[in-house]
Amino acid sequence: MSRVVIVGASLAGLRAAESLRTHGFDGEIAVVGKETRHLYDRPPLSKKFLAGEWDADRIRLRKPEEIVALRVDWHHGTTATHLDIENKVLLTDTGDFTYDACIIATGGAVRRLPNQPNHTGIHVLRTINDAEALRDDLAPDKHLVVIGAGFIGLEAAATARAKGCTVTVLEGLPAPLIRGLGESMGRTVARVHHDNGVEIRCNVRVEEILGGPAVSGVRIVNEHGAPEVVDADVVLVGIGVAPATDWLGDSGLTINDGIVCDENLQCAPGVFAAGDVARWPNALFADIEPTMRVEHWTTASEQGAHAATNVIAHLNGEPLTPYSAVPFFWSDQFTSRIQFLGRGTNADDVRVVAGNPDEGKFAAAYFGNDRLIAVLGVSLPKAVMPARKLLQDRATKSQALAHFAEAAT
Ligand SMILES: Cc1cc2nc3c(=O)[nH]c(=O)nc-3n(C[C@H](O)[C@H](O)[C@H](O)COP(=O)(O)OP(=O)(O)OC[C@H]3O[C@@H](n4cnc5c(N)ncnc54)[C@H](O)[C@@H]3O)c2cc1C
Repeated sequence: MSRVVIVGASLAGLRAAESLRTHGFDGEIAVVGKETRHLYDRPPLSKKFLAGEWDADRIRLRKPEEIVALRVDWHHGTTATHLDIENKVLLTDTGDFTYDACIIATGGAVRRLPNQPNHTGIHVLRTINDAEALRDDLAPDKHLVVIGAGFIGLEAAATARAKGCTVTVLEGLPAPLIRGLGESMGRTVARVHHDNGVEIRCNVRVEEILGGPAVSGVRIVNEHGAPEVVDADVVLVGIGVAPATDWLGDSGLTINDGIVCDENLQCAPGVFAAGDVARWPNALFADIEPTMRVEHWTTASEQGAHAATNVIAHLNGEPLTPYSAVPFFWSDQFTSRIQFLGRGTNADDVRVVAGNPDEGKFAAAYFGNDRLIAVLGVSLPKAVMPARKLLQDRATKSQALAHFAEAAT
């Protein structure tokens, strides 16, 4: 009987196991995961769960009976330490697993500041434990300082502000959300924070988190180049994640900001990667980004399922299928529902194509290489979703502009 080992017991790993079963794989499936809690969904951790509106049960990825029905050998609380590709063995801190095929879905691990101290009140936000600890520290009289104006930091800022906290966000770049949305749209989208009383300070450099034993503030070089201390009761370090590949250093896999895979998500014969940890050539965007790594829920879900179908093909000696897709993510901040399709990286022209940013409802198109490469929507879903087809068809700039002009009439 064949055995598939999946490393990472979260969204991509779960979807891989489900897809193996729905596509008829009847062999053994072992899933190895570092975390000890049941399988849960991460997006609510900065939203309803952090707000205290949803409990741990509400964010389960699957009901207990659905997990049982999968006939998977779950190894929660087990950390993978090495992959021996030649002998097809996964080594972990609790024992070895031989495999016929392996799917790596170890996601991302939060980045920390260099020399980040351990004062109480300093948080990161990736796991349910992180979210519970941060939630317990947020109270109306508290001043939360968020370091990093990315999506997760700004979502947490909005949630904390809605709970009555005073919130300051410190960002080193000239605008919030720059990596995802680019400078002009990042600034536009983050207006909702100013409107709701969150102070976002860009172009500041964080020097040190102060305090001991409890956090007391953050020493920065401010936007005018002067030293300053920003007082804080609670600090969230939200400076992104690094792909969790530390355990693969001597595996022989190519690691370059993620596990480098081919178009089929395969990184070595019979070994596949999926989700936040995977870097692969997405044929739909090859002209603007030769390989990409995507940290979105939908991609993790789709890639987990896709990698599983290629595992089955590999085991049956059949041809593998490439994974190419239009990446999609959403983000909720105050009353804004942000949706983003495609890749904004390398855009050379960004235009508002529907609605009005001043009214907080609009869509913007991103162009690169004379074609449509991404669409952003803020509380305007009807302008965003039809654009998926344009992105799949790699619409030229003029075709896309004609579509948006017609949709506006
Ligand atoms: C707070 C928060 C809010 C988010 N909000 C959104 C959103 O609104 N929209 C959106 O599109 N996306 C959102 N995301 C991103 C989305 O949740 C991720 O893209 C998705 O969880 C990735 O799934 P994954 O399975 O690839 O990785 P992960 O969910 O990171 O899971 C990887 C698992 O592997 C385990 N692991 C790591 N190393 C090892 C090892 N050596 N051995 C064993 N196990 C290991 C980890 O402990 C973890 O459980 C959010 C993420 C966070 C943290």
